[in-house]
Amino acid sequence: MNSSVCIAIDGPAGAGKSTVAKMLASKLGYVYIDTGAMYRAVTYQALTDKINMDDTVAITQVAEAIDLSLKVDAGGNTRIFINDKDVTQEIRRPEVSKNVSLVSRIPGVRIILTRLQRELAAQGGVVMEGRDIGTQVLPDAEKKFFLTASVEERARRRCLELQQNGYPVEYDQVIRDIILRDEIDSNRALAPLKPAPDAVIVDCSGLTAKQVVNMLLSMVSGG
Ligand code: C5P
Repeated sequence: MNSSVCIAIDGPAGAGKSTVAKMLASKLGYVYIDTGAMYRAVTYQALTDKINMDDTVAITQVAEAIDLSLKVDAGGNTRIFINDKDVTQEIRRPEVSKNVSLVSRIPGVRIILTRLQRELAAQGGVVMEGRDIGTQVLPDAEKKFFLTASVEERARRRCLELQQNGYPVEYDQVIRDIILRDEIDSNRALAPLKPAPDAVIVDCSGLTAKQVVNMLLSMVSGG
């Protein structure tokens, strides 16, 4: 596989995109880029600064001012930094998940982060994961996948993941949050969550991450 290639992976919350994108990148020797983490980082900073989530001007200023960087640690996991402070754990807090869709629908924030994402992908050899990668960020990506799964399965996965990370969440709350987040993400004016016309849609319900990765690998290497 040509190492200047970009692979876009989009889909709703909890479809297993991160696990699959990370595994696929490692198999191909590509860099994995989690764009959701960038929207989460801006949200985390805005919440830390006690900015009202309706204040689009102040939130855009936060996105402009912060220095975001991604680094891969020894275990192959991506860590995200704001002005050199590691916020990898903090951006997964339920409070950030609850507010991130309000931040990501702000056009100024999207413009700033889309620019940064394109810079990160400029050399190619990336698997970039998000909501609008195939449609907006990298419309010329060589391969585009849209991963989905039933909302119940997505909520179950997300619930387990949060509980494993020490957050005592309940399934009913997680499913409500996921439905609301998908609704805001799918209906925003700019870069809504939707498959690119040339994306391959993969329903991951009932499949393991390994099975999905093998499917994607066969499509990637099949040209
Ligand atoms: O992927 P993750 O669930 O961490 O993404 C968090 C949020 O970031 C999404 O619900 C969405 O609001 C926003 N997002 C986005 N565009 C992307 C990636 C994430 O709007 N490319």
